[in-house]
Amino acid sequence: MLSGWGRMSPAECEVVRPAAPSHLSDATAGTGTWIARGLGRSYGDQAVNAGNRVLDLTQMNCMLGFDAGTGVVECEAGVSLEALIDTFLPRGYFLPVTPGTKYATVGGAIANDVHGKNHHAVGSFGNFVESFRLMTAEGNLLDCAPDQNSEVFWATVGGSGLTGAIVSARVRLQPVETGYVTVDYERCKNLDDVLARAHDGDDRYQYSVAWIDCLAKGGSLGRSVLMRGNHTPLSGLPTALSGNPYPGTARRMAIPFDFPGFVLNAASIKAFNEVFYLRHHTRQGVVTDWNTYFYPLDQIKKWNRMYGKRGFAQYQATFPEESVNGIVRLLERLSATRRASFLAVIKRMGSPNAGLLSHPIEGYTLNLDLPNRSGLVDFLHELDRILLDHGGRLYLAKDVCAKAETFAEMYPRLGEFRAVRNRLDPNNRLASNQARRLKLVEVPA
Ligand SMILES: Cc1cc2nc3c(=O)[nH]c(=O)nc-3n(C[C@H](O)[C@H](O)[C@H](O)COP(=O)(O)OP(=O)(O)OC[C@H]3O[C@@H](n4cnc5c(N)ncnc54)[C@H](O)[C@@H]3O)c2cc1C
Repeated sequence: MLSGWGRMSPAECEVVRPAAPSHLSDATAGTGTWIARGLGRSYGDQAVNAGNRVLDLTQMNCMLGFDAGTGVVECEAGVSLEALIDTFLPRGYFLPVTPGTKYATVGGAIANDVHGKNHHAVGSFGNFVESFRLMTAEGNLLDCAPDQNSEVFWATVGGSGLTGAIVSARVRLQPVETGYVTVDYERCKNLDDVLARAHDGDDRYQYSVAWIDCLAKGGSLGRSVLMRGNHTPLSGLPTALSGNPYPGTARRMAIPFDFPGFVLNAASIKAFNEVFYLRHHTRQGVVTDWNTYFYPLDQIKKWNRMYGKRGFAQYQATFPEESVNGIVRLLERLSATRRASFLAVIKRMGSPNAGLLSHPIEGYTLNLDLPNRSGLVDFLHELDRILLDHGGRLYLAKDVCAKAETFAEMYPRLGEFRAVRNRLDPNNRLASNQARRLKLVEVPA
């Protein structure tokens, strides 16, 4: 049984674990459809293929080469972001872009063109992919780069695994002097306040994100804590830390069982939000290790159990700069329906890249975690409507239940994507539950 990280709609799949690229053609032989899977950190049904094959590529995890002059690493696609940090941070390199978890693979990071807290400054993961090797559904190996097979490159960056299996990739890391980030915290009294500060001040920071209290109402709607930072230079490390400029991963606690559904309710979430806001005062220059700043959730293993057996949805809504009042409408609906989000964050997004289905657009993105209570799917469709009315879009890595027509309206380059895909996969061998639901692939009659 496989599901995404949100654990909604698990499905039985045939899981195959090729241990090396040379096993891929056997792993995909025969009939039926297949889809690649990394560490299963997408939230919905993107790496699930009911009744069909799923290629778990996490055993394809060899480092293949590293150029210490340019910081370009070549690795198999199943290498995790954690392994890249563990290997290259002690050599003075960090990921150029990272999502809020290090338990994602390089293949997954490309297939979703993931973005991080520095999207406003540098864009998404695909911008740092020098090249990759793709095995198509027909079993051909294609080397792709922005200037080689570039159509396939930009269909694969953000293409949800639907152009083939990424076998290996060359990714440009960023040089850093330490494994610390110097963070400034600013309390913002409402949505206008946080958006204005992000708009005017983000350019001074490599990283910027705001936690947002999605239960606050009236004049406090959208009250937030902005958390912005830059990599700490060696000269900025306090003496106590200067002996160890590249700290390693900390030990993790685990949630040992599924919490009962009632634990996360509007009252407990309201209390959490209140405490979070009160604990985070405006203060400057807090030197924080990379693990704490980038991956707070990773510190609790299996934290998705907190939402109980029924799981949860993460809803990510990105609005163009000129339509930020859509965020107000979304927050008002949340507040009115008491569908509290335990963790909600908002961040400013920079320029998009050429990925045909890549998610980011310039504007603001809001992330909400919503427990799977009755009526959730209808509620998410209602939020999709608000998004559409404001020219916004949802994110495939987070989507669990969007309708095909909604997605098509949000992603104007879907037709181009389908054309490249159909050329690479004329027999429709690649598919996932999400791809069938959203009609990203031909659905058999
Ligand atoms: C706590 C948490 C925080 C997150 N924060 C962010 C964030 O800040 N920004 C963001 O953008 N995302 C974020 N995500 C989402 C996550 O980064 C993406 O879903 C990422 O793609 C997960 O990688 P994975 O290896 O687990 O891929 P999976 O979830 O296993 O698969 C995701 C997609 O990638 C495809 N895929 C995987 N490997 C390959 C391959 N080798 N070849 C071809 N296709 C492949 C799959 O077919 C599927 O379509 C977060 C997720 C979690 C759980």
